[in-house]
Amino acid sequence: MIPHIDETHAADLASWVSTANGHPDFPIQNLPFGIFSPRHGQPRGGVAIGDQILDLSLAARSTLFEGGAKDAVDAAAGPLLNAFLGGPAQERSALRRRLSALLAAGAPDRAEVETWLYPAVDCRMHLPARIGDYTDFYAGIHHALNVGILFRPDNPLLPNYKHVPIGYHGRASSVRVSGAPVVRPQGQRKAPDAEGPEFGPSQRLDIELELGVWIGQGNALGQPIAIDAADQHIAGLCLLNDWSARDLQAWEYQPLGPFLAKNFMTTISPWIVTAEALAPFRIAQPARPAEDPTPLPYLLSQADQARGAYAIDLEVAIATAAMRDRDEPAFTIAQGPASNLYWTLAQLVTHHASNGCDLNPGDLLGTGTISTPDDSGVGSFLELTRGGQKPVTLPSGETRTFLQDGDLVRLSARAAALGFVSIGFGDCVGQIASRVAA
Ligand code: MN
Repeated sequence: MIPHIDETHAADLASWVSTANGHPDFPIQNLPFGIFSPRHGQPRGGVAIGDQILDLSLAARSTLFEGGAKDAVDAAAGPLLNAFLGGPAQERSALRRRLSALLAAGAPDRAEVETWLYPAVDCRMHLPARIGDYTDFYAGIHHALNVGILFRPDNPLLPNYKHVPIGYHGRASSVRVSGAPVVRPQGQRKAPDAEGPEFGPSQRLDIELELGVWIGQGNALGQPIAIDAADQHIAGLCLLNDWSARDLQAWEYQPLGPFLAKNFMTTISPWIVTAEALAPFRIAQPARPAEDPTPLPYLLSQADQARGAYAIDLEVAIATAAMRDRDEPAFTIAQGPASNLYWTLAQLVTHHASNGCDLNPGDLLGTGTISTPDDSGVGSFLELTRGGQKPVTLPSGETRTFLQDGDLVRLSARAAALGFVSIGFGDCVGQIASRVAA
């Protein structure tokens, strides 16, 4: 079941936290959850509101919460959000409604709640949960086509693609929040015309623009998740940059798939934009072309097809070291909608558990790179530069095929729907650091 639209989504709702009103990411209609530490403080749960962070560990000590909202605020006090994510959706929703009421303009308890706020600029963000497992899918069909064309011009999509959501098990240990430096990986690669492989820093370091899915309630081993129940297992979303070393990938990926080309680092945005906050932005999954196969029954639900997609617009911007030195703004290289996913998030969850695999609270799924059919919104340099054959020229006059040291990449996203206040995801930033010689 998809969360309901309620009073917390009202477009005329304003907050006494003045910076929340009109805030591009964190108006009172969003209220995303994360783990932060104030200066000299320990990590704890927080909620972003405007340019402030509300301390949930202080909220948990107050008498302003009761019932389900009290249980949820206790679980969200930190230092990790796994228990909060795994708790009942009704409790998360009750806490959202209570926080919305406490932060709304004219709220009677403002004086107490004000003491729970820290300027976000003074705080440090952490991973919101202990990520037990991280799985990356390949559900962006235009990405799959664009990449497939580079390697197999006559047969870009493999025959399974439209029948089964393709994925691989990623590496949870190297997931980091926005801002952590991205050290250029080294590894083994072999140029097509070289006689043998060599080892060294990746020369084809790339990004992948993806949405991250935070698993809420888990499932027991051996118990699949029905497609109509899958939404109850999605606690919220974030942005995810699946940094990729294309030269390492090309040499290592057959026959078992991605390995060291991917697991050196994954950057996520630190705030969990909840399924409840995203309720107004649910849209129909785009109809499949008539010639495409109908999904097998375990993946197909009319309810999911009717509201299983999200009206989220995604963007990638780059700022090179030279651009930053000259105070030039970041340059947007891609912009496009999340509706370019061929499978819904519910289908990804259901497929993942369909063999009995157990998902746990705080597990992370990546959707796969989300690209537009044309060049306006492709989510990787691999696609944008046709495998490095067609460099991109930046406004600074610099060109790029893949990332150079000092390059800073920013993913951003915004959910928007007519009649509702749009909400954003916050920063998902990484800067490429050179590998210091050992
Ligand atoms: Mn990926």
